[in-house]
Amino acid sequence: MARLVMKFGGTSVADVERIRNVARHVKREYDAGHEVAVVVSAMAGKTNEMVGWCREAAPLHDAREYDTVVAAGEQITSGLLAMTLEAMGVTARSWQGWQLPILTSNAHGSARILNVNGGELIKRFKERNEVAVLSGFQGIHKETGRITTLGRGGSDTSAVAIAAAIQADRCDIYTDVDGVYTTDPRVVPRARRLERIAFEEMLELASQGAKVLQVRSVELGTVHNVRIFVRSSFDRPEDIDPYASHPPGTLICDEEEIVEQQVVTGIAFSKDEAQISIRRVRDKPGVAAAIFGPLADASINVDMIVQNVSADGATTDITFTVPASDYDRAREVLKAAHDQIGYDRIDGASDVAKVSVIGIGMRSHVGVAAEAFSALAERGINIRAITTSEIKFSVLIDAAYTELAVRTLHTLYGLDK
Ligand code: ADP
Ligand code: ASP
Ligand code: MG
Repeated sequence: MARLVMKFGGTSVADVERIRNVARHVKREYDAGHEVAVVVSAMAGKTNEMVGWCREAAPLHDAREYDTVVAAGEQITSGLLAMTLEAMGVTARSWQGWQLPILTSNAHGSARILNVNGGELIKRFKERNEVAVLSGFQGIHKETGRITTLGRGGSDTSAVAIAAAIQADRCDIYTDVDGVYTTDPRVVPRARRLERIAFEEMLELASQGAKVLQVRSVELGTVHNVRIFVRSSFDRPEDIDPYASHPPGTLICDEEEIVEQQVVTGIAFSKDEAQISIRRVRDKPGVAAAIFGPLADASINVDMIVQNVSADGATTDITFTVPASDYDRAREVLKAAHDQIGYDRIDGASDVAKVSVIGIGMRSHVGVAAEAFSALAERGINIRAITTSEIKFSVLIDAAYTELAVRTLHTLYGLDK
């Protein structure tokens, strides 16, 4: 007997027929004698629809009311799945974030989970043999009593937090692909499924744009050492052995558990980037603070930063990236701070993309990034900015070349199947 968390994303619960398919996956594990907590997302497209309604109702809406609206999608799925399970003879009940409760910070729209009460779920596994069907993505801020949400893709994080709270043996993330691939398999058909990937690499892949897992779910998994498997919900439920210790899919695990370590493990990309260049900035102490201070105050996340060494000792250029959705706001903030910073003009581009190459092997291999620069140059792809860290490097390029760049690097590092 094992204790499992089974999480199903939006495409896997897109309609009542698919919810029935999910219920069959749950029933398989339940009938095998496992204790099961299921975490569900909103049906595909529903969260986007609700976000659209909020914008339509009031462009500058109150984030607390936004959360009230968008948390509704998960509530519907959890109720539908619980009633489908009951109809199949499986004892089940739904739980909303506020009912368990799942306590979070009050950062509405991107709240952090602070505490999950797993005790009641465990009691019900034992006393009633009951499956818990939990709404992902949502929680409650204790002091104000208001509903919160965890940011887009947040059901992954709910699942891992619940797995940690009930000391689950495994957290299975069922999605519309059968594991974590070397890059997005929808963009590169030659991408390969990984048997295992280290937490640290998965964290980089997720934070650089691979949306298969929300970044915070990987952080939580690392801290609480949760065994996370990414697997497909589209396999026929009854064909799967509920007693197998390794389900088909990708295990996110410690580095030590990976026998054959490649230099490069995966490639991520993000088109949600915008570039800002501040021209002829006065080259004197305190200028970087004058630029990035006001941006931080406006909660604008700055990513890549490139600054030239001044040629004339008087002025220099500074280039950096921000999320595309913050591009206009960032330019406004910088215009307002013109006199404190001191610069000639601001240039920018919102049609840029960041491509990131990730691998723990980079720690011990030199020249990995240099190979990429030559390969991209051969394809006529211009690099606007570069950043590197211990196990990753990223290049900023014109968005139109994203797919070509990803495919070129995928082949270069021997990742093609
Ligand atoms: P869910 O609705 O189940 O949460 P998501 O759409 O959030 O699913 O995440 C799954 C998607 O992530 C896949 O359909 C795939 O296109 C995308 N993806 C991006 N990068 C990767 C990768 N490296 N491996 C697998 N899937 C990836
Ligand atoms: N429904 C939410 C979203 O679309 C949460 C999730 O699916 O994980 O972002
Ligand atoms: Mg997701």
